[in-house]
Amino acid sequence: MSINYLALANAGVDQLQPYQPGKPVEELERELGISNSVKLASNENPLGLGPKAKAAIEQALPELARYPDANGFNLKARLAGRLKVRTDQLILGNGSNELIDLLYHTFVSAGQEVVYSQYTFVVYALATQAHGAKAVVVPAKDFGHDLDAMAAAITGNTKLVCITNPNNPTGTFLGKAELEAFLAKVPENVLVVLDEAYTEYVDEAERIPSIDWLAGYPNLIVSRTFSKAYGLAGLRVGYMVCHPELVGVLNRVREPFNCNSLALAAAEAALDDTDYLQKAVNLNRQEMARYVAFFEEKGLNYIPSKANFITLDLQRDAGPAYEALLREGVIVRPIAGYGLPTCLRISIGLEHENQRCMEALAKVLA
Ligand SMILES: *Cc1c(COP(=O)(O)O)cnc(C)c1O
Repeated sequence: MSINYLALANAGVDQLQPYQPGKPVEELERELGISNSVKLASNENPLGLGPKAKAAIEQALPELARYPDANGFNLKARLAGRLKVRTDQLILGNGSNELIDLLYHTFVSAGQEVVYSQYTFVVYALATQAHGAKAVVVPAKDFGHDLDAMAAAITGNTKLVCITNPNNPTGTFLGKAELEAFLAKVPENVLVVLDEAYTEYVDEAERIPSIDWLAGYPNLIVSRTFSKAYGLAGLRVGYMVCHPELVGVLNRVREPFNCNSLALAAAEAALDDTDYLQKAVNLNRQEMARYVAFFEEKGLNYIPSKANFITLDLQRDAGPAYEALLREGVIVRPIAGYGLPTCLRISIGLEHENQRCMEALAKVLA
């Protein structure tokens, strides 16, 4: 007896490839018998868990036998105050990735179209495929979103448009004026998710007033996360901000206890840890400048980035350089899976980690 499980699965599942995460440090060290390797592959916060989040987690431990607060009351109240929105405009997720999936479960069905850019967060492609929807992939412009082409790609069959700003894996950034001009062109019954996973790294003067736009664009959904600048990737907590009635619809489909107690407590504390956030942002700015200077000096091509990573274009298959860096104990991210086989994405780490990476790059590319 043998069952063809793939044939049993929903339409689209047979075409899916599992998400390829960055290589874990332990795996590399086991394979090569080395130690002290550095991982600059998954855009995590190199500062590690912040002190306030850590204390909040310790304090929450005795309550773990109980279910978490299904409505995340405290975290939503804290976020609402910070963002100047109502608590009923917020929905919390087990990472923003879960909320992206929830959006699809709730709104996107087979045959409908989802518009997104070439070279963007792979989760949009995966979710589109998993739901049997039609991916309308708009060719990139200078490695980023071509908003005019994206607006032109919207049809009567479009359900969702996904924009990542700053973009992952390229770090490109769309300014206020062009984004708002785009939103004004999108029909009201087409949802737009604006994924701002890296917004904290953008200089305040340049940051998008996306939350302010919600009042004028009821089809807009702003997505944020605690996984990057707030340093909580392992706990899985993210949120979306949108129209309260849209939150209400999403809440019908959401799992009741999707955010665990530790994640809720830690995110609330992390939100108040402005020292930690500032330290993370400052470190990123300083080290990004060092990478840029290094690339300029070596005559290497890179994509200017507003996020916590920078993408290098070797203009030839980047696979051998990736493998050679691994042998030097440096894990970066090959992004052939994003359609960029000549590129390597490097997450900005601590100063000594970046130093290791630059020395390894100099050696490997010599
Ligand atoms: C890292 C990242 C996220 C965050 O995902 P979580 O599930 O919140 O950890 C979301 N969007 C983009 C574009 C990212 O790069």
